[in-house]
Amino acid sequence: MNEKQRLESQQVQSPEKNKEKDYSKYFQTVYMPPSLKDARRRGREEIKYHDDFDIDERFKGMGNGRKFYIRTYGCQMNEHDTEVMAGIFMNLGYQPTETVEDADVVLMNTCAIRENAENKVFGELGHLKHLKMEKPDLLLGVCGCMAQQESVVNRILQKHPFVDMIFGTHNIHRLPEILNEAYMSKEMVVEVWSKEGDVIENLPKVRTGNIKAWVNIMYGCDKFCTYCIVPYTRGKERSRRPEDIIQEVRQLAAHGYKEITLLGQNVNAYGKDFEDIDYRFGDLMDDLRKVDIPRVRFTTSHPRDFDDHLIEVLANKGNLVEHIHLPVQSGSSAMLKIMGRKYTREHYLELVRKIKQAIPDVSLSTDIIVGFPNETDEQFEETMSLYREVGFETAYTFIYSAREGTPAAKMKDNVSMEVKKERLQRLNALVNDYSRKAMEAHKGQIVEVLVEGESKNNPEILSGYTRKNKLVNFKGPKSAIGNLVQVKITDAKTWTLNGEMIDVKESVEVI
Ligand code: SF4
Repeated sequence: MNEKQRLESQQVQSPEKNKEKDYSKYFQTVYMPPSLKDARRRGREEIKYHDDFDIDERFKGMGNGRKFYIRTYGCQMNEHDTEVMAGIFMNLGYQPTETVEDADVVLMNTCAIRENAENKVFGELGHLKHLKMEKPDLLLGVCGCMAQQESVVNRILQKHPFVDMIFGTHNIHRLPEILNEAYMSKEMVVEVWSKEGDVIENLPKVRTGNIKAWVNIMYGCDKFCTYCIVPYTRGKERSRRPEDIIQEVRQLAAHGYKEITLLGQNVNAYGKDFEDIDYRFGDLMDDLRKVDIPRVRFTTSHPRDFDDHLIEVLANKGNLVEHIHLPVQSGSSAMLKIMGRKYTREHYLELVRKIKQAIPDVSLSTDIIVGFPNETDEQFEETMSLYREVGFETAYTFIYSAREGTPAAKMKDNVSMEVKKERLQRLNALVNDYSRKAMEAHKGQIVEVLVEGESKNNPEILSGYTRKNKLVNFKGPKSAIGNLVQVKITDAKTWTLNGEMIDVKESVEVI
């Protein structure tokens, strides 16, 4: 829904209490579905920055005596959006709760990347229907990437009319208004804009930890890989201003956070949209090196925009860790072309060569899709050989499944599930093999571990991550939690390391 449609629909959707739900009217007059076509358009419209987010006086206290619960699916971007929504809820007076049964508002912050995630949400809606029947005052909302898709919104309107609110990724800052409308009206509140996107600063956040934090540096994606729904659900690439990001990281450092992860769908495109300054991702990383916070990570990278300046800056290390997640998706140039990735196997390998030359101890990880339409055995073998050539230390591997509304969904999915599964199995065996080797290379080494807490399986054991993002389990005092400690690695498994703590390190030298 665009801004005009939203305003028009609001006029018709005036709150009328005690009115029976009648969704037929959504299809006739009120409801304008989110449009993938509109979302695809990338105009020259200027990105609007709003740094004045505030809770309207009318809504203050709205949540007094009420509790909220947010279930999050998908990526870190969604996790971080949940932190923002939790911040807004708390500012409205709501309290968090750990169970849906105890909640007065339940939100499902959804993911549209994989079919699996979508099915889970619809399954969960089935369960929540019973809760809603027992507790009619409960407000149920669906937000996030799924809510940006017209097919999903239509399905909810038709089959899940007990849902009270649907809102998109561009509408999070309007949560107070959306909640208010849902309380006032008996109708489902649908607010999804298929716009290019703005940047809203000053949003409250309730972070889910006090050791590591996520920091958005940009929103949206303009790459339009043929299999991916993100450019449609998250809008066009728009960067936050560097001063806002640096200030947020400084504040996190002042509050004792030890590690931040910079978030963006394609962080390497950071700054491309600035018209008044020449400032790119490498410049931002260089500035963040000077902030007194022990570790800075970033995700996710796109090989196409990974430039030499960034490599040069990362090579200076300090608080910039030597782990780079660099999604390749396929080792075949022909496949990469069909995927719309805008680089070739040769370009990727050249980039890896430059990174390794500048940062010899770098740890590389990747994402790979197997069984993309038309992928031949030979092309899959190219992925296997590229994996060996790069020597990735780990990978997230996926079987291709079509996402409605993407160009790839129109391609014939002509690789059988049997073949896809067989390829995935072979690839995973290779991934495990390389992970085990990378872990074994740590034996006898002393590594810096950021201690996150007790191990999930044994409260006697502490666990944390190395700069290269390897999980380490070791015995140590509880006082080490939240600190950087040195651990001597004594044993290596495929995915984890065991060790002995040597000494608590209070701070790292930041150049
Ligand atoms: S770079 Fe490609 S895969 Fe990543 S979010 Fe953008 S379109 Fe999706």
